[in-house]
Amino acid sequence: MKRNTTSHIQFLLLFTITLFTCFANAQNEVYTSSVKQVVADTTFVNLKDYSNDFIYDMKYATEDNFLKAKVYDCAECVLRYKTVQALIKANKAFMQKGFKIKLYDCYRPLAIQQKMWEIVSNPKYVADPKKGSIHNRGGAVDISIVDINGKEVDMGTPFDFFGIRASHNYTMLSNDVKSNRKYLKSIMIKNGFNSFDSEWWHYNLKAGLKDNVSNQKWKCD
Ligand SMILES: [Zn+2]
Repeated sequence: MKRNTTSHIQFLLLFTITLFTCFANAQNEVYTSSVKQVVADTTFVNLKDYSNDFIYDMKYATEDNFLKAKVYDCAECVLRYKTVQALIKANKAFMQKGFKIKLYDCYRPLAIQQKMWEIVSNPKYVADPKKGSIHNRGGAVDISIVDINGKEVDMGTPFDFFGIRASHNYTMLSNDVKSNRKYLKSIMIKNGFNSFDSEWWHYNLKAGLKDNVSNQKWKCD
């Protein structure tokens, strides 16, 4: 009887080890297959391939911008993968409260930066192409938020308003505007972005400040 109990225990032990090994292998398989799909943090990707939850109002793909020219072939948002990941997280936080991010600009080729600098040579509003903007590095976004009805939240000035009213430090604004800007800023900062004092719409990914400037065109379908 005692001998029987011992072999019974041995069998159970062996069975458990076999089961555990199978489980561990299965886990490894899942892990391996997901590793194959990993994209490097600095790879340029198209936001639409990772989320359908953004509103696009890409001003430079229209003539409705300070250049008065359509300088992008299509209204798409290209960014480095790490910027996309952080932006999706921020958007999820906004969506929990009934808002969504509206995009005005994302990655911007260096050649376009040059055109902008020729029109507005003021580093408060346009980065000197010699240094390059974080937009040229795939780490900056120009955004606002819209409510559940798609209505843009009042931020006090339109996008690309090159004046003091667009500054985070400007206080002669209604309480609603101040609290809307504060809300936008708080969620973005929580998700790895820095604000930019003279433009309420501009956010830089903190982990993207030192990436290389790039001058590429993206494919438009
Ligand atoms: Zn910007």
